[in-house]
Amino acid sequence: MKGIIFDVKKYAIHDGPGIRTTVFFKGCPLNCIWCHNPESINPEPEPSLGYRSPFQLNQLAEGDHEVIGEEVTADAVMDQVLKDRIYYDESGGGVTFSGGEPLTQPDFLVSLLEMCKGERISTVVDTSGMAGKETVERASDLVDLFLFDIKLIDGGQHKRYTGVGNERIIDNLDFLLKRNRQVELRFPLIPGITDGSDNIKGIREFIRERPGVKRMSILPYHDVEKKYTKLGLDFDLGGLKPPREKEIEGIASEFEKTGITVEVGG
Ligand code: SF4
Repeated sequence: MKGIIFDVKKYAIHDGPGIRTTVFFKGCPLNCIWCHNPESINPEPEPSLGYRSPFQLNQLAEGDHEVIGEEVTADAVMDQVLKDRIYYDESGGGVTFSGGEPLTQPDFLVSLLEMCKGERISTVVDTSGMAGKETVERASDLVDLFLFDIKLIDGGQHKRYTGVGNERIIDNLDFLLKRNRQVELRFPLIPGITDGSDNIKGIREFIRERPGVKRMSILPYHDVEKKYTKLGLDFDLGGLKPPREKEIEGIASEFEKTGITVEVGG
Protein backbone atom coordinates (compact mmCIF):
# COMPACT_ATOMS: atom_id res chain seq x y z
CA MET A 1 0.00 0.00 0.00
CA LYS A 2 1.36 3.40 -1.01
CA GLY A 3 0.48 6.99 -0.15
CA ILE A 4 1.83 10.50 -0.55
CA ILE A 5 3.38 12.25 2.43
CA PHE A 6 5.43 15.43 2.71
CA ASP A 7 7.16 15.13 6.05
CA VAL A 8 7.94 12.92 9.02
CA LYS A 9 8.64 14.74 12.28
CA LYS A 10 10.39 12.79 15.01
CA TYR A 11 10.27 13.50 18.75
CA ALA A 12 7.10 15.59 18.38
CA ILE A 13 5.67 16.69 21.74
CA HIS A 14 2.70 18.82 20.62
CA ASP A 15 0.80 16.32 18.49
CA GLY A 16 -0.83 14.20 21.18
CA PRO A 17 0.38 12.57 24.41
CA GLY A 18 4.03 11.72 25.05
CA ILE A 19 6.80 11.68 22.47
CA ARG A 20 5.50 10.92 19.00
CA THR A 21 6.45 10.53 15.38
CA THR A 22 4.18 12.67 13.22
CA VAL A 23 3.55 11.64 9.63
CA PHE A 24 2.25 14.43 7.41
CA PHE A 25 -0.11 13.34 4.61
CA LYS A 26 -0.31 15.42 1.46
CA GLY A 27 -3.70 16.67 0.29
CA CYS A 28 -6.45 18.58 2.07
CA PRO A 29 -10.06 19.24 0.96
CA LEU A 30 -9.98 22.58 2.79
CA ASN A 31 -8.06 25.68 1.84
CA CYS A 32 -7.94 27.70 5.05
CA ILE A 33 -6.84 31.27 4.46
CA TRP A 34 -4.42 30.93 7.42
CA CYS A 35 -3.15 27.44 6.58
CA HIS A 36 0.07 26.82 8.51
CA ASN A 37 1.04 23.96 6.14
CA PRO A 38 0.29 25.36 2.67
CA GLU A 39 2.58 22.71 1.18
CA SER A 40 0.05 20.13 2.38
CA ILE A 41 -3.00 21.22 0.38
CA ASN A 42 -2.11 19.99 -3.11
CA PRO A 43 -2.49 16.17 -3.10
CA GLU A 44 0.32 15.71 -5.62
CA PRO A 45 4.08 16.20 -5.20
CA GLU A 46 5.01 19.76 -6.22
CA PRO A 47 8.18 21.79 -6.78
CA SER A 48 9.56 24.16 -4.18
CA LEU A 49 12.76 25.88 -3.18
CA GLY A 50 14.89 24.45 -0.41
CA TYR A 51 12.74 21.48 0.61
CA ARG A 52 14.25 18.15 1.61
CA SER A 53 12.14 15.05 1.28
CA PRO A 54 11.75 13.13 4.56
CA PHE A 55 13.09 9.92 3.08
CA GLN A 56 15.31 11.64 0.51
CA LEU A 57 14.29 9.16 -2.12
CA ASN A 58 14.39 11.82 -4.81
CA GLN A 59 17.95 12.21 -6.05
CA LEU A 60 18.31 15.74 -7.37
CA ALA A 61 20.51 16.74 -10.27
CA GLU A 62 21.99 20.22 -10.09
CA GLY A 63 19.43 22.82 -11.21
CA ASP A 64 16.45 20.54 -10.55
CA HIS A 65 13.57 21.81 -8.48
CA GLU A 66 13.24 20.07 -5.18
CA VAL A 67 9.91 18.38 -4.75
CA ILE A 68 7.49 18.55 -1.84
CA GLY A 69 5.89 15.21 -1.19
CA GLU A 70 6.68 11.73 -2.31
CA GLU A 71 4.98 8.43 -2.75
CA VAL A 72 6.05 5.98 -0.06
CA THR A 73 4.93 2.55 1.06
CA ALA A 74 3.26 1.96 4.39
CA ASP A 75 6.14 -0.41 5.20
CA ALA A 76 8.69 2.40 4.65
CA VAL A 77 6.74 4.68 6.99
CA MET A 78 6.56 1.93 9.61
CA ASP A 79 10.31 1.35 9.36
CA GLN A 80 10.79 4.99 10.41
CA VAL A 81 8.12 4.79 13.10
CA LEU A 82 9.48 1.63 14.72
CA LYS A 83 12.95 3.12 15.15
CA ASP A 84 11.66 5.25 18.02
CA ARG A 85 9.52 2.70 19.77
CA ILE A 86 11.53 3.05 23.00
CA TYR A 87 10.54 6.73 23.25
CA TYR A 88 6.85 5.91 22.80
CA ASP A 89 7.00 3.18 25.42
CA GLU A 90 8.75 5.38 27.97
CA SER A 91 6.64 8.52 27.42
CA GLY A 92 3.18 7.16 26.62
CA GLY A 93 3.63 8.42 23.07
CA GLY A 94 3.14 6.87 19.66
CA VAL A 95 2.34 7.95 16.12
CA THR A 96 0.30 10.90 14.90
CA PHE A 97 -1.09 11.09 11.38
CA SER A 98 -1.48 14.71 10.34
CA GLY A 99 -1.32 16.76 7.19
CA GLY A 100 -2.97 17.98 5.16
CA GLU A 101 -5.89 15.74 5.89
CA PRO A 102 -4.97 12.10 6.60
CA LEU A 103 -8.53 10.96 5.88
CA THR A 104 -8.09 11.92 2.19
CA GLN A 105 -5.95 8.77 1.75
CA PRO A 106 -8.18 6.26 3.54
CA ASP A 107 -6.60 2.99 2.34
CA PHE A 108 -3.09 4.18 3.16
CA LEU A 109 -4.18 5.56 6.52
CA VAL A 110 -6.12 2.44 7.52
CA SER A 111 -3.23 0.25 6.50
CA LEU A 112 -0.83 2.29 8.71
CA LEU A 113 -3.31 2.32 11.59
CA GLU A 114 -3.65 -1.46 11.39
CA MET A 115 0.12 -1.89 11.35
CA CYS A 116 0.44 0.37 14.42
CA LYS A 117 -2.26 -1.61 16.21
CA GLY A 118 -0.40 -4.83 15.34
CA GLU A 119 2.70 -3.31 16.97
CA ARG A 120 0.70 -1.98 19.95
CA ILE A 121 1.68 1.60 19.13
CA SER A 122 -0.73 4.37 20.12
CA THR A 123 -2.40 6.21 17.23
CA VAL A 124 -3.57 9.80 16.93
CA VAL A 125 -5.25 11.33 13.87
CA ASP A 126 -5.14 15.10 13.52
CA THR A 127 -8.10 15.96 11.29
CA SER A 128 -10.17 18.78 9.85
CA GLY A 129 -13.09 16.36 10.10
CA MET A 130 -13.85 16.75 6.40
CA ALA A 131 -14.29 13.21 5.06
CA GLY A 132 -16.98 10.77 4.01
CA LYS A 133 -18.84 8.97 6.80
CA GLU A 134 -17.57 5.61 5.53
CA THR A 135 -13.94 6.73 5.84
CA VAL A 136 -14.45 8.03 9.36
CA GLU A 137 -16.18 4.79 10.30
CA ARG A 138 -13.35 2.65 8.87
CA ALA A 139 -10.71 4.58 10.80
CA SER A 140 -12.57 5.25 14.02
CA ASP A 141 -11.90 2.04 15.95
CA LEU A 142 -8.23 2.06 15.00
CA VAL A 143 -7.57 5.55 16.38
CA ASP A 144 -6.86 6.10 20.08
CA LEU A 145 -7.35 9.86 19.92
CA PHE A 146 -8.74 12.26 17.33
CA LEU A 147 -7.42 15.83 17.36
CA PHE A 148 -10.44 17.43 15.71
CA ASP A 149 -10.51 21.03 14.43
CA ILE A 150 -13.30 23.38 15.33
CA LYS A 151 -12.80 26.61 13.44
CA LEU A 152 -15.95 28.61 12.74
CA ILE A 153 -19.48 27.80 13.92
CA ASP A 154 -21.27 29.82 11.27
CA GLY A 155 -21.46 27.67 8.11
CA GLY A 156 -21.21 30.68 5.77
CA GLN A 157 -18.10 32.01 7.52
CA HIS A 158 -16.62 28.54 7.51
CA LYS A 159 -17.07 28.32 3.76
CA ARG A 160 -15.72 31.82 3.24
CA TYR A 161 -12.47 31.20 5.13
CA THR A 162 -11.83 27.48 4.54
CA GLY A 163 -13.54 26.84 1.20
CA VAL A 164 -16.06 24.35 2.59
CA GLY A 165 -19.12 24.42 4.83
CA ASN A 166 -19.07 22.74 8.24
CA GLU A 167 -22.14 20.44 8.15
CA ARG A 168 -20.28 17.27 7.28
CA ILE A 169 -17.50 18.10 9.74
CA ILE A 170 -20.01 18.49 12.58
CA ASP A 171 -21.78 15.26 11.53
CA ASN A 172 -18.47 13.40 11.67
CA LEU A 173 -17.62 14.82 15.08
CA ASP A 174 -21.02 13.78 16.41
CA PHE A 175 -20.58 10.33 14.91
CA LEU A 176 -17.27 9.88 16.79
CA LEU A 177 -18.70 11.19 20.04
CA LYS A 178 -21.71 8.87 19.75
CA ARG A 179 -19.30 5.96 19.41
CA ASN A 180 -17.50 7.15 22.56
CA ARG A 181 -14.26 7.75 20.69
CA GLN A 182 -11.65 9.97 22.36
CA VAL A 183 -11.81 13.42 20.76
CA GLU A 184 -9.85 16.54 21.64
CA LEU A 185 -10.94 19.75 19.92
CA ARG A 186 -8.40 22.09 18.37
CA PHE A 187 -9.27 25.74 17.87
CA PRO A 188 -7.06 27.85 15.58
CA LEU A 189 -7.13 31.35 17.04
CA ILE A 190 -6.83 33.63 14.02
CA PRO A 191 -7.14 37.35 14.81
CA GLY A 192 -10.02 38.99 12.96
CA ILE A 193 -11.37 35.64 11.70
CA THR A 194 -12.04 33.08 14.44
CA ASP A 195 -11.76 35.31 17.52
CA GLY A 196 -15.06 37.22 17.10
CA SER A 197 -17.37 37.15 20.12
CA ASP A 198 -20.16 35.40 18.15
CA ASN A 199 -17.83 32.60 17.16
CA ILE A 200 -16.43 32.17 20.68
CA LYS A 201 -19.94 32.15 22.13
CA GLY A 202 -21.13 29.74 19.42
CA ILE A 203 -18.27 27.32 20.08
CA ARG A 204 -18.92 27.53 23.84
CA GLU A 205 -22.55 26.51 23.27
CA PHE A 206 -21.48 23.83 20.82
CA ILE A 207 -19.23 22.29 23.50
CA ARG A 208 -21.94 22.54 26.16
CA GLU A 209 -24.25 20.49 23.93
CA ARG A 210 -21.60 17.76 23.62
CA PRO A 211 -20.65 16.35 27.02
CA GLY A 212 -18.32 13.83 25.33
CA VAL A 213 -15.89 16.69 24.66
CA LYS A 214 -13.47 16.94 27.59
CA ARG A 215 -10.47 18.79 26.22
CA MET A 216 -9.53 21.53 23.81
CA SER A 217 -6.28 23.06 22.61
CA ILE A 218 -6.14 26.64 21.40
CA LEU A 219 -3.64 27.07 18.58
CA PRO A 220 -2.72 30.76 18.31
CA TYR A 221 -1.87 32.07 14.84
CA HIS A 222 1.83 32.46 14.11
CA ASP A 223 3.39 34.06 11.06
CA VAL A 224 3.65 31.63 8.16
CA GLU A 225 4.24 34.10 5.34
CA LYS A 226 7.74 32.77 4.56
CA LYS A 227 6.33 29.33 3.80
CA TYR A 228 4.01 30.83 1.18
CA THR A 229 6.86 32.80 -0.37
CA LYS A 230 8.91 29.61 -0.71
CA LEU A 231 6.05 27.97 -2.54
CA GLY A 232 5.52 30.99 -4.76
CA LEU A 233 2.02 31.50 -3.32
CA ASP A 234 0.28 34.71 -2.27
CA PHE A 235 -0.53 34.96 1.42
CA ASP A 236 -3.77 36.86 1.99
CA LEU A 237 -3.04 37.45 5.69
CA GLY A 238 0.41 39.06 5.14
CA GLY A 239 1.32 41.33 8.07
CA LEU A 240 -1.25 39.80 10.44
CA LYS A 241 0.06 39.89 14.01
CA PRO A 242 -0.27 36.88 16.33
CA PRO A 243 -2.85 37.29 19.12
CA ARG A 244 -1.69 38.82 22.42
CA GLU A 245 -1.28 36.73 25.55
CA LYS A 246 -4.18 38.51 27.22
CA GLU A 247 -6.57 37.74 24.35
CA ILE A 248 -5.55 34.10 24.33
CA GLU A 249 -6.12 33.83 28.09
CA GLY A 250 -9.52 35.53 27.79
CA ILE A 251 -10.71 33.10 25.13
CA ALA A 252 -9.33 30.11 27.05
CA SER A 253 -11.30 31.17 30.12
CA GLU A 254 -14.49 31.49 28.01
CA PHE A 255 -14.11 27.89 26.86
CA GLU A 256 -13.21 26.72 30.38
CA LYS A 257 -16.64 27.88 31.52
CA THR A 258 -18.04 24.80 29.81
CA GLY A 259 -16.11 22.60 32.28
CA ILE A 260 -13.59 21.23 29.80
CA THR A 261 -9.80 21.36 30.12
CA VAL A 262 -8.28 24.00 27.85
CA GLU A 263 -4.63 24.17 26.88
CA VAL A 264 -2.79 26.68 24.76
CA GLY A 265 -0.58 25.21 22.04
CA GLY A 266 -0.74 21.79 20.47
S1 SF4 B 1 -7.52 21.99 7.39
FE1 SF4 B 1 -5.43 22.30 8.12
S2 SF4 B 1 -4.11 21.55 6.47
FE2 SF4 B 1 -6.17 21.80 5.60
S3 SF4 B 1 -6.13 23.85 4.70
FE3 SF4 B 1 -6.94 24.05 6.78
S4 SF4 B 1 -5.16 24.54 8.08
FE4 SF4 B 1 -4.40 23.73 6.10
